[in-house]
Amino acid sequence: MDCIFCKIIEGSIPSTKVYESDTVLAFKDIQPAAPVHIVIIPKKHIPTMNDVTDEDAAVIAELFAAARQIAKEQGIAEAGYRLVNNVNSDGGQVVYHLHVHLLGGKKLGALVGNNAS
Ligand code: AMP
Ligand code: ZN
Repeated sequence: MDCIFCKIIEGSIPSTKVYESDTVLAFKDIQPAAPVHIVIIPKKHIPTMNDVTDEDAAVIAELFAAARQIAKEQGIAEAGYRLVNNVNSDGGQVVYHLHVHLLGGKKLGALVGNNAS
């Protein structure tokens, strides 16, 4: 399959892994937007949040459990962090394999500004 994150799971594209379980993988983002920027993905190829079904409930729970554990390991759990899931074009999704960005290590800017229109 022509999916960059599936290739990272297979190992045919290298990555700096920070967490791996049977169902979830996490690695450092190659273009970090914060001092800590980790991409957390299910090993199952799910294109976007729109494609998540009730059958995926367990893996989604595991994704968030991984996020909690990684935040602790990275030493940012108490200071705080942000989890981001971009969906489709307006959401800014570039890689169509479901993923959550874990961002932290500094005080992040406000998410909402004066751009509601
Ligand atoms: P999104 O815009 O939510 O689809 O984000 C995709 C993210 O994947 C971006 O932050 C990219 O920097 C990151 N990314 C793309 N290719 C790689 C790669 N080979 N290794 C690590 N991160 C990647
Ligand atoms: Zn994929």
